[in-house]
Amino acid sequence: MSAFDRMNNPMTRVAGIVLSLVLLSAAAAAGDSSGDTIVLKSGRRITATNVVEDGDRVYYETSAGRLSLRRDLVERVERGTARSRWAAGSSSEMSVAPPRVDPSEGYDDIVAAAVHDGAIDRAYVARLEREAGAGDAAAARRVAVAHHAAARFELGKGDTEQAVAHYRRALTFAPEHLGVLLNVGYLHLHRNEFTPALDYLERARRVEPENADVAKLLGWAYYGLNRIELAVREWKRALALRPDADVEQALAKALRDEEEESSYREGETRHFNLRYHGGATPELARGILRTLEMHFSAIEGELRYSPPEPIGVILYTEQAFANITRAPGWVGAINDGRIRVPVQGLTSVTSDLSQTLMHELAHSFIHQKTGGRAPVWLHEGIAQWMEGHRAGQYAQILVSAHEQQVSLPLAAMEGSFLNLPNEVASYAYAWSLGVVEYIIATNGTGDIERLLERIRTESSVESAVRNTLRLDYTLLETETARYLKRTYLQ
Ligand SMILES: [Zn+2]
Repeated sequence: MSAFDRMNNPMTRVAGIVLSLVLLSAAAAAGDSSGDTIVLKSGRRITATNVVEDGDRVYYETSAGRLSLRRDLVERVERGTARSRWAAGSSSEMSVAPPRVDPSEGYDDIVAAAVHDGAIDRAYVARLEREAGAGDAAAARRVAVAHHAAARFELGKGDTEQAVAHYRRALTFAPEHLGVLLNVGYLHLHRNEFTPALDYLERARRVEPENADVAKLLGWAYYGLNRIELAVREWKRALALRPDADVEQALAKALRDEEEESSYREGETRHFNLRYHGGATPELARGILRTLEMHFSAIEGELRYSPPEPIGVILYTEQAFANITRAPGWVGAINDGRIRVPVQGLTSVTSDLSQTLMHELAHSFIHQKTGGRAPVWLHEGIAQWMEGHRAGQYAQILVSAHEQQVSLPLAAMEGSFLNLPNEVASYAYAWSLGVVEYIIATNGTGDIERLLERIRTESSVESAVRNTLRLDYTLLETETARYLKRTYLQ
């Protein structure tokens, strides 16, 4: 998943932001080129176009406009290496190609017959299923291939739910089909449903114990479930079976976590699994767990949803936090699948820490409820709203940016804010809060709940927004500005 963060001091640098936004958007007009990658000394990679080094700054473009960085933060620029114009860049999700389904006899013919003319040929699939019903193993394999084709077709439309249904159906005919087991496990992993993923992958392990893909995906599932030592074991096993750059990268991250956490103590409650360094007191740890459980009930009530997976929480001393998360300095806490909170010097739960926990916990709910598909603007808007922030103090700046047409478009705020320069990130947080506050002020949290539900199943965020709120992005932005003006500026 992408990492979500909470700013230490949101909007402290807000003055002058409208001016920077004006400058950014005026400079953003230049032409497109194939993407470049800016590699920072911290190791972070930023995908951008038209990267130009000028004086002590490096300028680059994203769909949010033209941005710049201090040159001394930049290790190097890799030209033409990036594939997308606007990438989150800091995703901690594994970038793994879906597993292959072994081409069996007649594979291409079955695929062509199962999906054609823009639709699944259900009569053909039903016929294959009847043939397989007699217990013919070859016929069962053909059913698996046909459902695989149908699942790929549904995925092409963005319908993961239907794709999973096809694989499950295939397994009733061919319960030991490795390709199908891997694919359905993989889809669950992408939706951050680690427990069901583990189930299918363990079945795959029994079918083929020495398979590198099985080990690779099992490592991902264990990592998601915060069972780092098992993740490390699986990824080492995967590498022993086959060299793989994705796995090497994932293993390095898991080893960093494991080393740091080996000296940690643990605490557990019904919904949380807490690890903390000996430097934090057990009283603080207990207080944090109590606070988290309280916030859990509150968010559960607002979103009418209860995350099925246990939520991992790690407390850090400040330096360890920076080393492990590699997050920019302005980040106060982070949620990259586990809630990571710096607690240096604290002995009890302060109100600021309580808000931080609420904020990060909201991210976990949203992430699990949408299967990891919620855009960052919605994530950050809800998380700030849940911790009790309201947009009043930012109304002036948000409204004037909108009126001067230099506001960040929501479409450019679907990916991570971690790549944005500080002042633009501050703006993005405030604007996200404004939009979410507008939605809740208009129709209550029920609309947020419905919106999250649709995002999980629909092909694009904007279509989910349209179908829930009856507004497209442009109108949602306009209505938000009008709401802010009416509520706070008149
Ligand atoms: Zn956040």
